[in-house]
Amino acid sequence: MAEKMKALVSYAPYDNRYEEYQKPRAEKGEIVLKVKGCGICAGDIKAYHGGIRIWGTSEENRYIEAPCIGGHEFFGEVVELGEGVEDYAVGDVLVAEQIVPCGECKFCKSGAYWMCTRSAVFGFKQYANGGFAEYVKLDKNCLIHKVPKEFTAEQAVLIEPIACGMHAVEQAQIQHSDVVVIAGLGAIGTSMVNIASLALPKMVIGIDVKENRLEMGKKFGADVVLNPAKCDVAEEIRSLTDGLGCDVYIEASGSPRSVTQGMDALRNLGRYVQMGVFAQEVTADWNTIGDGKELTIIGSHLSALTYDSVIQGIASGKIKTEGLISHKFKLSDWEEAFKATELPDAMKVMMEP
Ligand SMILES: [Zn+2]
Ligand SMILES: [Zn+2]
Repeated sequence: MAEKMKALVSYAPYDNRYEEYQKPRAEKGEIVLKVKGCGICAGDIKAYHGGIRIWGTSEENRYIEAPCIGGHEFFGEVVELGEGVEDYAVGDVLVAEQIVPCGECKFCKSGAYWMCTRSAVFGFKQYANGGFAEYVKLDKNCLIHKVPKEFTAEQAVLIEPIACGMHAVEQAQIQHSDVVVIAGLGAIGTSMVNIASLALPKMVIGIDVKENRLEMGKKFGADVVLNPAKCDVAEEIRSLTDGLGCDVYIEASGSPRSVTQGMDALRNLGRYVQMGVFAQEVTADWNTIGDGKELTIIGSHLSALTYDSVIQGIASGKIKTEGLISHKFKLSDWEEAFKATELPDAMKVMMEP
C-alpha cells in the first residue's frame, strides 16, 4: 500500500480539494522534503480563479496539468534521498527554485535555465507537484539551496518571491545617479524597494494605492512614497526631478494603468522594467517608446541566479523580511488563507501543513 499524505489538489477553476494524495517517494537523483511552509503566490490565486494564462482557452493551450498540487514558494526538511544524491543529508532544510528546468533546451544549455522552454513551475504540473502538501518531491533537475538553520519559517518562505524581485531590480541596472520608481508594493515590490536602495541610487520612490503598503515601503527604504489614488504620480515625479521624470520605472503591480503611468513618469531615454503579471491585455501609446522618449523596455521573468544572494542578504540582515508575511494559516484552512490574500492589509500569506 502506497503511503498517503494530505495535500491541496487543484482539479479545475474553483475546484481545489484538501484531500489524501499519494506521498511522493525519492527515485534516483530525487529528494523528498517534509514541507515546513509555503507562500501563496498571485499565480496560485489566478489558478484558482481560472486565469487564462494558466487554464488556457482549451485543452491544447492549457498550462496547468490538473489535477496537481499548487504552491512553489515552499521550503522543507529532507526526509528521503534518492540513489546518487550526495550533496544533501536527511535533516537539511532546503528550498528549490520555482522552476524545474529540462536541462536540454537552448536556454538551459546556455545557462538561462529560468527561460527553459519546458517552463515547469512547481504547482502547475503533475511531475512538479508543489508545496501545498505535507511532502514535496524535488526532481533531479531542481535547483536546490540550503536554508540556514537560523531562518524563521517566514524568512524561508520569502526567499522565492524576494529572488524574483531581485532579478527585476538587476534588470534595471541601477546607477548611483538614478531616480528609481517601484510601482506596486506587495511583498515583492516592498522587497524591491529594499534591494534597489542597497544600490544607493539618488532616490527610491514607492507607489501603491494602499496606505499601509506605502508605510511598509518607507520602512524598507523608500525616500518618497506616492499614492496614485490621491495624486498625479507622473506629475509628482517630474516635480521631484527638475521636470525630467524618473530614470527607472519597475512595474510590479500587474495593473494596466501602472504601465501608462510609468511611460508618462519616465524621462527621455528612461528604463522601464516589467515584472508584474497582468490579468488582461494592456493598451498604451507605443509612440512614447520610440518617437517620444526612446525608452528601453526590459522584461523580468522568475529569479535568474539570485537565490544565493537573497539567502546571504536575509542572513546578514541587509534584506529585511519583517512584516512581509502578513498572515499564516494551516494548510487545512486553505480557503481562509486564499481569501486572506485579498484583505486590505495582506502582504504575503503563507500556509503550514
Ligand atoms: Zn511566487
Ligand atoms: Zn530547458
